[in-house]
Amino acid sequence: MKRILFTLFISLVLFPVIARADISAPIKILLVPGHDNEVWGAQYGNIKEAAMNLAVATRIYNILKKDKRFEVHITRDSRGYTKKFADYFSGQGDDIASFIESAKKEMQKKIESGNFVEKPNPPHNRAGEDMVNRLYGFNKWANENGIDAVIHIHFNDYPRPYKWTIGKYKGFAIYIPDGQFVNSKESALLAANVLMELDKKYAISNYPPEVLGLVSDQKLIAVGANNTLSASVRSMLIEYAYVYEKKMRNYATRHQIYKNVAELTAAGIKNYFFPK
Ligand SMILES: [Zn+2]
Repeated sequence: MKRILFTLFISLVLFPVIARADISAPIKILLVPGHDNEVWGAQYGNIKEAAMNLAVATRIYNILKKDKRFEVHITRDSRGYTKKFADYFSGQGDDIASFIESAKKEMQKKIESGNFVEKPNPPHNRAGEDMVNRLYGFNKWANENGIDAVIHIHFNDYPRPYKWTIGKYKGFAIYIPDGQFVNSKESALLAANVLMELDKKYAISNYPPEVLGLVSDQKLIAVGANNTLSASVRSMLIEYAYVYEKKMRNYATRHQIYKNVAELTAAGIKNYFFPK
């Protein structure tokens, strides 16, 4: 609880302005269940992370879809990428490539001129080239379609020698854009609202880089690396639990986790956009 208070204190001190009145309804949300059927991210036993992510994202989608104040989009379903995104990737390949190239050039200029300071980031698995293009593609699509928040849904693992052993870390963490990115302030506030909800039932990660719960990051494309998300597009990447945790290893408890974290995440999103 102390950590939560600390995190909230930091968010409120750094980001005292809560100006959401300018957002016009409906609030547009893009849900990105992490990874896909070809490259499925983490795995423990025969349970693949991509399937866990989809299970939670689908539940959040169904909750928000029932609420008229939201317009909700999702990048894939049980059959793979939804038509909208499959078409976008096949039709926009060249445009996505130049979007990436110019964002990287722009960032390089900022670094060289001292307008952007690089910091060490927690270790992440490097995405393959196809996934890199898709992740930047989601950012481009979100900018073009007036998305108010992009939410990436994941389960966690960390670099360790034997993937089939049970790791030593557990708990959830939310990655947010580094403070130098244009969408950082409102993203942090949105994430703080979701963190407060998840904290009601679950513990924050005990992995050292994640112990504050909110983890700012420069390298994750999902949260807008190279400033690829517009100021109005909030972003966060939620790691709900480590894939090997006891509660994830049993069918019944795992499905209960899916249900609970989806409800808590949707509640946090609603609390942020429509404060009581
Ligand atoms: Zn993942």
